[in-house]
Amino acid sequence: MPTQDIRQRMNQRLAELYERHLALHEDKIVGYYTPGTGNHKPEETAESEHKRFAICLATTDGEVFYVGDHDRPFALQSISKVFVYGMALEAHGRDNVLKRVGVEPSGDAFNSIVFDERNNRPYNPMVNAGALATTDLMEGEDPAEDLERILGVLRRYAGNEDLKVDEDVFALEMGSADRNRATSYLMRSYGMISHAVEENLALYLRQCSVCVTSRDLAVMAATLANGGVNPVTEEQALASRYVRDVLSVMHTCGMYDSAGQWAYEVGIPAKSGVSGAILAVVPGKLGIGVFSPGLDVYGNSVRGIKVCEEISERLGLHIFADDAEDALLGPLNSGNGT
Ligand code: GLN
Repeated sequence: MPTQDIRQRMNQRLAELYERHLALHEDKIVGYYTPGTGNHKPEETAESEHKRFAICLATTDGEVFYVGDHDRPFALQSISKVFVYGMALEAHGRDNVLKRVGVEPSGDAFNSIVFDERNNRPYNPMVNAGALATTDLMEGEDPAEDLERILGVLRRYAGNEDLKVDEDVFALEMGSADRNRATSYLMRSYGMISHAVEENLALYLRQCSVCVTSRDLAVMAATLANGGVNPVTEEQALASRYVRDVLSVMHTCGMYDSAGQWAYEVGIPAKSGVSGAILAVVPGKLGIGVFSPGLDVYGNSVRGIKVCEEISERLGLHIFADDAEDALLGPLNSGNGT
């Protein structure tokens, strides 16, 4: 357990990080996501959105540190893909899931309608087409049961029984889903989706519309960092043998078509969502949840990326880094390094 002194220093560092990035220049922000309407120019929504910002860290010891709008809810959006991929692996095993969705970075945008020509599979489960395929692999009797199961799993990851679908977000998403619908029909024509397109699409968009806070997000990330066991509640959210698969795909494909740049600069598995959230995992140590709605051209949170770059740099978290500028994380995790 960290001492009071370490906790205090950690909170100070976070407050510093927050203040510096809050002032980040808006010229880097390309848009904000508003469900149902796509990205807007900053001027249109900047007033209410641009100051929203939270950084949250959860350790595999179950300690949680946060700063900013840590209790402000936002939709998981694409981050939900991580957890549903894990469920598909648990239900069907690696080989069967691999028949439906690959593990190759696509280099294309998250909503690309391009598939692997050799086998008609979506490139990976972190782009929309891949997530439509993993959603199709849910095994409930009907979509209502599938949704309950997905919610149950998300709640275990977060240790929060209150997680639920935001019906307003869902209605807006459903009202502008033609591209995902077109992708689904194409996949169905290839035999890569077996359920009715509308049912599967609605289940996918409902999982995207589940609301969390950055605190929830950090604990979800820490659960992945902790071998699938929530470090706060000690509940198992994902069978430990599949954690490696999920993290590998996050590492190579989690940040859309800037996944390579992210792996190069930050060097830890992560997943972003167009609501402006990033979930990042430091195996054996830490989960990071950042929320800030200003997006870059790829649909990734601008402040989120900067904050993660700096945390990774200062704590030496890049998987190929050999040094840390700041030794704080060592004592924070003493006693539990899985
Ligand atoms: N609901 C969005 C979609 O399916 C999620 C996309 C995202 O976060 N990248 O288009």
